[in-house]
Amino acid sequence: MAGRLLLRTCTKTLQLRSHVLATRPHRAMGTLKGIPTDEEQAAGLERRVMQAFKQGKDPYSILKPKQYGGTKEDPHIVPCIGTKRLVGCVCEEDNTAIVWFWLHEGDCHRCPSCGSHYKLVHHELPH
Ligand SMILES: [Zn+2]
Repeated sequence: MAGRLLLRTCTKTLQLRSHVLATRPHRAMGTLKGIPTDEEQAAGLERRVMQAFKQGKDPYSILKPKQYGGTKEDPHIVPCIGTKRLVGCVCEEDNTAIVWFWLHEGDCHRCPSCGSHYKLVHHELPH
């Protein structure tokens, strides 16, 4: 009786083992076709930014800002969530002093030192 029970247990164990060894290991990439792209892997904030880039938007100001001439026709654009903003102008490249002035919503304003034009543009926060 005990011998038969032992034989049955050993047979069952060997069958289970052979089944486990016979199956191929599951790979995460097995069901996909190739390596997933960045868009497929992105999640959270990164995914939101990638979707905004597809629509041509830069909600978090990640990209380098556009260069403006500072003339009356092409003023420096200053994004703002309110109606006024304090702006610092480094008038010349080698200047160590910054000229500070308030920029108000509406028409262009000029730097009192160098004369560059600045314009305040309303900006919505992305969240
Ligand atoms: Zn200036």
